[in-house]
Amino acid sequence: MKVGVPKEIKTHEYRVGLTPGAVREYVAAGHKVLVETNAGTGIGSTDDDYRKAGATILDSAREVIASSEMIVKVKEPQASEWVQLQENQILFTYLHLAPDPEQAKGLLKSGCTAIAYETVTDTHGGLPLLAPMSEVAGRLAIEAAGTALKRYTGGRGRLIGGVPGVQPSRIVVIGGGVVGTHAARMAVGLGAEVTIIDRSIPRLRELDELFQGRVRTRFSTIDSVEEEVFAADVVIGAVLVPGASAPKLVSRKMLSSMRKGSVIVDVAIDQGGCFETSHPTTHADPTYEVDGVIHYCVANMPGAVPLTSSHALNNATLPFGLAIANKGFAAVLENPHLRAGLNVYRGRLTYKAVADSLGLPF
Ligand code: NAD
Repeated sequence: MKVGVPKEIKTHEYRVGLTPGAVREYVAAGHKVLVETNAGTGIGSTDDDYRKAGATILDSAREVIASSEMIVKVKEPQASEWVQLQENQILFTYLHLAPDPEQAKGLLKSGCTAIAYETVTDTHGGLPLLAPMSEVAGRLAIEAAGTALKRYTGGRGRLIGGVPGVQPSRIVVIGGGVVGTHAARMAVGLGAEVTIIDRSIPRLRELDELFQGRVRTRFSTIDSVEEEVFAADVVIGAVLVPGASAPKLVSRKMLSSMRKGSVIVDVAIDQGGCFETSHPTTHADPTYEVDGVIHYCVANMPGAVPLTSSHALNNATLPFGLAIANKGFAAVLENPHLRAGLNVYRGRLTYKAVADSLGLPF
């Protein structure tokens, strides 16, 4: 199959759909890979790196898209991209169609087949192509907190791990899923005192087992959230209720009793955030202050580390992408996990939740 990789064009998006290593795998499996010139610049991979991996470099996205049977990207196609898509082409990328009627209409009109990373499933009921970005965001959350805690950025001036004889930071992680676990790992590694709050008792049991006494776990109630948040130097918001907006677990009133110079990192901001005072920020201007509490609410945290994020994403997408390249649309029909990723098929929406939220026929 001819597989195309255009350069990402969304503002501040530096990741790439296929790394040179992934290209090598496609080429080894007998596919032809067409890569737009400079597609890998954001991760430090040159056109020559792609050529060595077996890719053909083309001058424009237009040429790449026009010549490919499958197009592999990172972000949802922009208007200038979806108008180029055609029937018989397969698009494999993050789509996030539910809040984006314009893109949905564009993809429907193109007649293409679009498989969304975010709805592909695995045998454990997880979302394997979303998980790597949650891992990145969870780990980054502690780095972001460490920066925001510094005095010159308005923070309390407490070192995350303290030093011998001086107490470390207290870090509270609300939501012990993928983001929360990875945040906790980093925080424990740096020597912080860590508490994870979750509403799932089985999950709290797993976390207790995993961390072997290095974190405290608490069941999520208004009382436990309030107690922990009041004593915290850092609170990480990492809850997810699938298909719904994040619950507001920390109210404005609670916030006003938090320590001045403490930090919240609301990773769940892409679902509306779990602090009443959160609003999305960008890497260019990541923090703001409310009631003396520093808020970090960047909605696309993995974009800060495109090198790590592209490799993590490619590791996860590779087996699915190869299956599509090897078998074409038959791969989608025979693999229920890829089938779960199918959002658009030749002018029809094929994912019920997306169709429902857009008010379009399914
Ligand atoms: P996940 O499903 O793995 O974990 C969510 C956890 O929240 C679960 O353990 C669940 O039991 C818990 N939870 C739900 N309601 C709760 C409540 N009331 N109190 C306490 N815990 C509760 O999800 P995840 O992959 O860890 O993602 C978490 C959030 O981070 C999502 O909104 C995701 O979209 C977001 N995210 C943001 C970025 C970013 O760049 N900002 C990047 C990746 C993921």
